[in-house]
Amino acid sequence: MTLDAVIVGAGPNGLSAAITLARAGLRVQVLETHGQVGGGLQSRALTLPGFVHDYGSAIHPLAVASPAFRQWPLHAFGLRWVHPDAPVAHPLPGGAALLERDLHATAAGLGPDGPAWVRLFAPLVREHEALLEDILRPLPRVPRHPLLLARFGLRGLPSAAWISQTHFRTPQARALWAGLAAHTTLPLTTPGTAAMTLVLGLLAHAVGWPFPAGGAQALADALHAYLRHLGGEVHTGVTVRGPGNLPPARVTLVDSSPRVLLALLGDRAPARYRAALEGFRYGPGIQKFDYALSGPVPWQDPRVARAATVHVGGPAPEIAAAEAVAAQRIPARPYVLTAQHTLFDPSRAPAGQHTFWAYTHIPNGSAGDAQGAVEAQLERFAPGFGERVLACTRTTAAQLQGFSPVFQGGDVNGGRGDLWGLLARPVPSATPYRTPVKGVYLCSSATPPGGGIHGMAGYHAALAALKDEFRLQATP
Ligand SMILES: Cc1cc2nc3c(=O)[nH]c(=O)nc-3n(C[C@H](O)[C@H](O)[C@H](O)COP(=O)(O)OP(=O)(O)OC[C@H]3O[C@@H](n4cnc5c(N)ncnc54)[C@H](O)[C@@H]3O)c2cc1C
Repeated sequence: MTLDAVIVGAGPNGLSAAITLARAGLRVQVLETHGQVGGGLQSRALTLPGFVHDYGSAIHPLAVASPAFRQWPLHAFGLRWVHPDAPVAHPLPGGAALLERDLHATAAGLGPDGPAWVRLFAPLVREHEALLEDILRPLPRVPRHPLLLARFGLRGLPSAAWISQTHFRTPQARALWAGLAAHTTLPLTTPGTAAMTLVLGLLAHAVGWPFPAGGAQALADALHAYLRHLGGEVHTGVTVRGPGNLPPARVTLVDSSPRVLLALLGDRAPARYRAALEGFRYGPGIQKFDYALSGPVPWQDPRVARAATVHVGGPAPEIAAAEAVAAQRIPARPYVLTAQHTLFDPSRAPAGQHTFWAYTHIPNGSAGDAQGAVEAQLERFAPGFGERVLACTRTTAAQLQGFSPVFQGGDVNGGRGDLWGLLARPVPSATPYRTPVKGVYLCSSATPPGGGIHGMAGYHAALAALKDEFRLQATP
């Protein structure tokens, strides 16, 4: 029987696209290079026996809030969220700042900046579901909640640095804010960086920053199991290099990079579209470190152990300085994003031992070694860290790109996240998933809403395919 849809790539967006199409009753097949599904949502044995590491994503606020994932019965397919006590800890020389799940508990730890934190986040937290529906889709579209989005836009359009200067004065609030802002991988003075910072903060208060029990793979496996339940199939160990590798199907959705899409379109792609995709811009890369530890990280401030996510980089001006140069060189005192899952999910390491996940921003494609600088930062806030290291695996930008073409040069967001990078992803359009070739769609994080585990690029691309080619709406 001929397929209705073939999906290239079983990352979170490919799986999400496949599920959306299968729920509409279509016959769907997914082709994936790797032997396991998940793409950047994958767990692996990267160090010693018994240690389960997340190869890509580690912490999943966008997944738990995703309007697509939320409507699917993933818990029936093995997904269980683990919520640490606090979403984020941020070690500082005089003691840590904590981003608590509760807005007012966070404010209580921020002294005179507490009321400003509440004023900034409370209206967004209150209406987070409606707001996320508009944010996690292409920006050029007419919003479903225009007034709400306009209010968000007023706060989100400036740079994260400007919001910090105009709203906060304590080192604690400024550091918490800068630690969130640095997720953008852009200098904190870049216009629009406040938007992602606000989203990450509001998610902490509205839904938490959890992770799947057992590792990120558990979410990928739940998506896969649900897809199979709906009748979809996934073929692993298959790399699609050109149209000749594709089985006949009415539509093709590509969960890969614009370059891979171009290879699939061949000379069917008009010159203008080809030029736009060839000029697709990437942000800085990352270098990642997976540790097997003999004990928990010996944080100087023991309260840091209340959070799974720890932003290591010190006071806000140091983080701003690091992120200002990370696109050009490895900073001497880098910002390091870390996760300590096993404090909350001991199943992921042998008894009493721990995993530790860390990455830092580097120039796109850089082969430089950031390990010394990263570990100096860890020692600064957790003296004796090095003595607990049993094994460490370093993953370079080139290895990440080899793992998935979406992460070109080690850019984990699948494309630069500045304003233009969000508006023209990969081309300016209200439906940027559509390509000029009938029946072919791009559905990776190189399309809106960009990087992160939420499946919304795949979901929206599938909605476009359903409407264009099958005259169908998504099944509620
Ligand atoms: C180190 C790291 C840390 C991260 N941390 C977080 C985090 O904590 N939280 C978060 O929300 N996000 C995080 N991210 C980002 C997140 O992982 C990505 O945004 C997300 O995985 C993108 O999903 P995708 O489906 O678009 O692409 P991918 O996840 O890259 O999936 C694409 C899939 O398609 C396959 N594929 C591509 N081309 C072909 C082809 N030609 N033939 C066959 N198969 C193909 C690839 O093998 C891959 O499996 C992180 C990413 C990395 C790398």
